[in-house]
Amino acid sequence: MPSEPLTDEQREIRDLVRDLARERIAPRAAEIDKSAEFPWDVVELFREHELLGLPYDESYGGTGTGALMLLVAIEEVSKVCATSGLILAVQELGSLGIKLAGTDEQKQRWLPRLASGEWLAAYALTEPGSGSDSAAMRTTARREGDEYVLDGSKRFITNAGVASLYTVFAKTDPAAGHDGISAFAVESDAPGFGVGRIEPKMGIKGSTTGELHFDGCRIPADNLLGEEGEGFKIAMQILDRSRPGVAAQGLGIAQGATDYALEYAKSRETMGRPIAEHQLIQGKLADMEAQCEAARGVLYKVGMLIDEGAEAAELTKYSAMCKLLCTDAAMDVTTEAVQILGGYGYISEYPVERMMRDAKITQIYEGTNEIQRLVIAREMVRENRSSALTEVG
Ligand SMILES: Cc1cc2nc3c(=O)[nH]c(=O)nc-3n(C[C@H](O)[C@H](O)[C@H](O)COP(=O)(O)OP(=O)(O)OC[C@H]3O[C@@H](n4cnc5c(N)ncnc54)[C@H](O)[C@@H]3O)c2cc1C
Repeated sequence: MPSEPLTDEQREIRDLVRDLARERIAPRAAEIDKSAEFPWDVVELFREHELLGLPYDESYGGTGTGALMLLVAIEEVSKVCATSGLILAVQELGSLGIKLAGTDEQKQRWLPRLASGEWLAAYALTEPGSGSDSAAMRTTARREGDEYVLDGSKRFITNAGVASLYTVFAKTDPAAGHDGISAFAVESDAPGFGVGRIEPKMGIKGSTTGELHFDGCRIPADNLLGEEGEGFKIAMQILDRSRPGVAAQGLGIAQGATDYALEYAKSRETMGRPIAEHQLIQGKLADMEAQCEAARGVLYKVGMLIDEGAEAAELTKYSAMCKLLCTDAAMDVTTEAVQILGGYGYISEYPVERMMRDAKITQIYEGTNEIQRLVIAREMVRENRSSALTEVG
């Protein structure tokens, strides 16, 4: 990897996003957390600056700047506000089904409205009884003439109630396990579609997390993404490309907390000198910075792998590794940032308390970090590789 993985153009866009985040989003972050209201003003800011176009090709009205650029933008925004960073990540998550499995006609129908930011997107896999074990889902879709009829419900869906387009997974053949799942694009005005309870939660409070209900919900048959029975494969392909977005969110939170703790440590004095001059505090700061930089190395590598069209198995493993490393770093680093601020770290007036709460979800959604470890180990076992030292067994 070159010492600077970003091109001049990518650095220019990063600097623009960094300035916007510092000047326009950072002053809103505490209020978004406190009010727990979805920040439509941030969406408007993203629209004005075409940031919601980052996940899309130019032919669909996007910026055509690729996966790495999107990850860098999510990281920059999440340094100051994880709720706002998530808006960019979920725009990608909710539209990857169309990008990966949609026909040209489907892409033309939906992607330009998502790229302009007119519509927000969501991804609906989880149900009350199925999270990690997503194949145990119970929502069904049956074909009736030119339509599919969906029945069931989803839970914990990010952007519930604010998205106009939902990528929804449902069983078209409930007896067929993984092979009986299909993927659909559901517009929010579909008859029989409804949004239920929005969950109060620990962090990312401005993001909506809610239930979706499908009560004889009718959608055109040509909203099927890919073929019937391909839904599980599509859901996993989406996660391979979207987990880096959560990783970027985690890394942004971690770096934002590190930067804040460093500033604080330079100005807070105990025993006659800044705490940044006490070796135990220096050790924490050094570990935090090193964890962020290591996590960033793997994250940017994944961005480059996606942009270069990496093979599926390699992407699956690296995507899981970057999600694991960046989000575990987010939790470790924010916990240490709170410690460096001492009592002030625990008080809502200081941002590291919010960052620590926001960090926790990154270890849970889009596959818990236990599931990431299972994915990484499964790919290791599959790889055709041997130890250089000795024959085993
Ligand atoms: C704020 C928020 C936003 C979310 N956004 C979305 C969204 O937009 N779309 C969506 O579809 N879902 C979303 N989710 C759901 C999220 O992805 C799931 O909650 C997550 O995948 C875990 O599923 P679960 O909650 O059912 O936990 P379970 O699957 O019940 O897991 C419980 C515990 O058991 C562990 N575990 C489970 N299976 C194994 C195993 N085989 N080996 C070892 N340990 C295991 C898990 O790691 C976890 O620690 C969101 C959740 C939250 C809280």
